[in-house]
Amino acid sequence: MTSCIFCDILFGIAPASFIQRDDLCAAFMDIRPVNPGHVLVVPHAHAALVSELDAVSIGHMLQVAQRVDVALRASGIKCEGVNLIISDGAVAGQEVPHVHLHVIPRFRGDGHHFRFSPAYFTKTPASELGKNAESLAEWNVAIGMKPDDANFYINMGSVLQKLGKTDESQEAFKKAATLNPASAGMGFYNRAAILTGPGRVPAGARSRRPGGSCPTTSAASPPTAWWAR
Ligand SMILES: [Zn+2]
Repeated sequence: MTSCIFCDILFGIAPASFIQRDDLCAAFMDIRPVNPGHVLVVPHAHAALVSELDAVSIGHMLQVAQRVDVALRASGIKCEGVNLIISDGAVAGQEVPHVHLHVIPRFRGDGHHFRFSPAYFTKTPASELGKNAESLAEWNVAIGMKPDDANFYINMGSVLQKLGKTDESQEAFKKAATLNPASAGMGFYNRAAILTGPGRVPAGARSRRPGGSCPTTSAASPPTAWWAR
């Protein structure tokens, strides 16, 4: 057993009702469905937060979820609409610290509702929207490639290994070990568990003070391997 129920399911240690599995992720039934037909799409790479998951896996998850969405609507399971939800962090409702995408069939009168605080109904001034957009746009550029984050290379190494690209996966793990020596000499799932605990902030973000200016130069020298394109 590992300390992660989703890793246990993906390794075959714990049971689940699978819909599909491939090199990058799996889709299986939620054991506590919001509505019948509730599916979880889970990447093989163990990452607690969306920010820690490699770009290939996160993109593939949505493609799998699209197929599940279509299947639900065609299956005869009661489904008049679908919620696609990722709860990213405990405060956002994430219960298992391994990224997962909920695909939830919905129908009129199913009794489930999102609830918003009264603040939601107050119109935000354009000046505040603009200020937030400017800040996020700067961060978006600065952390886009995350070249200084060992997690990026660990997760990518695990993906490459599953694809049979041994040399390239070893290169990715070596790069991770260079960035964080604590990740060297261990199995990749263990390394990922050490480096991707709940609530972890990307390395690039930790180096900057909240509210401070956002140096875009930190995104220099991005990796040139195929997985970075
Ligand atoms: Zn896991």
